[in-house]
Amino acid sequence: MKFFDAHAHIQLPQFDTDRAEVLARMQADEVGAIVVGTDFETSKVAVELAEQHDFLWASVGLHPNHPSTDSTSSPQASSGQVTLEEFEVLAKHPKVVAIGECGLDYYRQEPTEVIKKIQHERFKKHITLALATSKPLIVHCRPTRGTQNAHEEMFELLTANSGVRVVMHFFTSTKEIAEKYLALGCYLSFPGPVTFGDMYDEAIRATPLDRMLSETDSPFAAPVPCRGTRNEPIYVVEVVKKIATVKSLPVDEVATHICNNACTVFGLW
Ligand SMILES: [Zn+2]
Repeated sequence: MKFFDAHAHIQLPQFDTDRAEVLARMQADEVGAIVVGTDFETSKVAVELAEQHDFLWASVGLHPNHPSTDSTSSPQASSGQVTLEEFEVLAKHPKVVAIGECGLDYYRQEPTEVIKKIQHERFKKHITLALATSKPLIVHCRPTRGTQNAHEEMFELLTANSGVRVVMHFFTSTKEIAEKYLALGCYLSFPGPVTFGDMYDEAIRATPLDRMLSETDSPFAAPVPCRGTRNEPIYVVEVVKKIATVKSLPVDEVATHICNNACTVFGLW
């Protein structure tokens, strides 16, 4: 494996017409990936995909904004609670290498006291599951526009739970925020938008090579030069190229570090 996409949703309907071709391109380009669930159903399908391909692994969890009203969820889940039990069975699967995505999102949902409580409770259940299974957390953290509110709460939550390994998914924030997560021992996973300009270069420079990952968040957020089109895991190479440029290092060297980091944090092989 040459490249690693630490966060892809290739189980979503955007890939229903050509998933086999997308997977074939990954195999040809030697790109491995974590297929990330956002609810019970997409988590289950992520596990099924990972079972079928040796270059895929799965993560299972409930997105902070997910309303949990799908038919596979229990009545408790419809009220916004993760029922730990239903994810617990999936989480034990050998190809499940992380718990998530989970976390706090105050961008798409206004952080009223009720919303905060639901998201905090849900996130804490994922922490419990990560600790119980000795698997890392894939964390989504998005503050209200113009604020750092979700990050500030996340620092507190992670400080209080220092035993859990954490990958900060879709890291697109400042050098200062990057340094705080790094001080807590987190890995930072950089997505397509780092190629849009130089606004995240400082955060990339501040992140040591042995603490970074690359991701696509496919089908969303395609990097330049594919910006605006459906994203897919092979485009992770554009993220790696950008990191290499910012760090003035050969692409191969950055790619190797990232594969090794994925191996370490997710325990892949
Ligand atoms: Zn995602």
